[in-house]
Amino acid sequence: MLSQSSTEGLLSATYVENYLDIVENLPNDLQRHLSRMRELDITYREETDAIDPDEPRYCLCDQISFGEMILCDNDLCPIEWFHFSCVSLSIKPKGKWFCPKCRGDRPNVMKPKGQFLKELERYNREKEEKA
Ligand SMILES: [Zn+2]
Ligand SMILES: [Zn+2]
Repeated sequence: MLSQSSTEGLLSATYVENYLDIVENLPNDLQRHLSRMRELDITYREETDAIDPDEPRYCLCDQISFGEMILCDNDLCPIEWFHFSCVSLSIKPKGKWFCPKCRGDRPNVMKPKGQFLKELERYNREKEEKA
């Protein structure tokens, strides 16, 4: 019987291993599954470790840079660089491009500067509070 709290560990190979320890003569295909899971566990851990905590973060999603990136045309943009996928782009737009924080009615028009500065102030304050 699995209790609610132990279901979290269900995907870890270690958990399955411990669980299966009580089962003798494990069928071969289960053994294979298990070693595959163990590999995935290791790969996952290595990938997680590979992310440098000091690596700069970008974009609305606050992640490191990957794939194609686009620069917001607002010099004061608090974020500057965005992942194509996070701003619904698949190709680089022609002309100016403003990010969702800086744009006005259209992606190639900046919002009124006064409004932007007010929002920038709030953004910076929220960021400080989070830090
Ligand atoms: Zn992103
Ligand atoms: Zn921007």
